[in-house]
Amino acid sequence: MEMLSVAEAQRAILANVKSLESETIDLLTALGRVLAEEVVSDIDLPPFDNSSMDGYALQAQAVIDATPDRPARLPVVADIPAGHPSPIELAAGTAARITTGAMLPRGADAIVPVEDTDDEARGASPLPASIGVRRAVKSGDFVRYAGDDVRRGERVLAAGTLLRPAEIALLAAVGQAQVCVVRRPRVALLATGDELVEPDRVPGPGKIRNVNAYATAALVLQYGGVPLPLGIAADRLEAVTAKLESAIEQGADLIVASAGVSVGAYDLVKDAVAAHGAIDLWRVRMRPGKPLAFGNYRGVPFFGLPGNPVSAMLTFEQFVRPVLRVMAGLTQWHKPTIEVIVQEAIDSDGRETYARAWVERVDGQWQARLSGGQGSNMLSSLVRANALVIVPDGVQRLEAGAVARAQMLDWPDSINWV
Ligand code: AMP
Ligand code: MG
Repeated sequence: MEMLSVAEAQRAILANVKSLESETIDLLTALGRVLAEEVVSDIDLPPFDNSSMDGYALQAQAVIDATPDRPARLPVVADIPAGHPSPIELAAGTAARITTGAMLPRGADAIVPVEDTDDEARGASPLPASIGVRRAVKSGDFVRYAGDDVRRGERVLAAGTLLRPAEIALLAAVGQAQVCVVRRPRVALLATGDELVEPDRVPGPGKIRNVNAYATAALVLQYGGVPLPLGIAADRLEAVTAKLESAIEQGADLIVASAGVSVGAYDLVKDAVAAHGAIDLWRVRMRPGKPLAFGNYRGVPFFGLPGNPVSAMLTFEQFVRPVLRVMAGLTQWHKPTIEVIVQEAIDSDGRETYARAWVERVDGQWQARLSGGQGSNMLSSLVRANALVIVPDGVQRLEAGAVARAQMLDWPDSINWV
């Protein structure tokens, strides 16, 4: 049995994983997806010179001496609302009423905002015959020039970019109503154990509810995958094998099982996987969650996570999440981590320990307090946690006041995309 650090195990796992193929989807559904191809703009942004204010387009030269006491008076020769470009060529000493976003008429080189004129009308109103301008403007004032933001032909987004609302906005602006993104990983989820019943039942003597199927499905969704729940397999070789075959039939990109991979008498998962694939049982120097199995079933990468729910979830965060992010096309897969001051001592057995904690900013410092009992079955302290404080490999105790790193559980490298 190999003995690996968390980082070594992550490296060994990711050596087996690459980005999935692309698919083309509607831009409206692309939040949280990852671009499979670079995107080039088909137009300048803005596409044409336009006004950044409601006001009057003119030649700056014509109002060079204008002041509040001695306004310059200009005839108004055109009305140019947004979306309705005017064919006029503005003559020196004339003005055109213009709204925000409307195309600058030829001949004009500046805008005077309506607030700096004697036009008191607001909203739809008749075009005044002339306008008094109360201040001077420079050539270019309140004009947004074509291509200021983006040039036609410019690469605006690289392949591998995570699509946040900002990227969705830019994609709309450059005409990508359909986008080519990396396909979402399909993750088959298998719970094993004779003791398990589904959550809609009251567990009888010796039984417990199947927590891991729901916990891992939620994590798969959170990290951009499609969960394929396989249900519960009893502790029999044929039952586990039937579920694994169902994962293959459903086109799983990854299979994640929980429980059944330690050295207990009924731990059959590894035998079932090994029959048509390969499996290594690793002792990762991590707490919670020492036993971790990784391999493949009929060529599909396979994880065997520990059975205890908190162990299953925290090993998922450290090992399965990076695989999902890489499969989904991202190169950055690290969990956001900050430096915190621990407010109480945290003990460890020397394995890299992920302690459930509540982190908050107090007096300009990030402070961490344990969020409750740290047993690997104890969900209540995970519910009360917003972070995992890391006691490094080889360290037996962090004293109160020590500086440590904390993974922030709710600072997403992604959000829930569904
Ligand atoms: P095992 O890895 O089979 O030895 O299981 C370790 C612990 O995790 C035992 O207490 C199991 O009852 C528990 N466990 C296993 N699978 C689940 C599950 N799907 N939901 C909740 N607890 C589980
Ligand atoms: Mg079991």
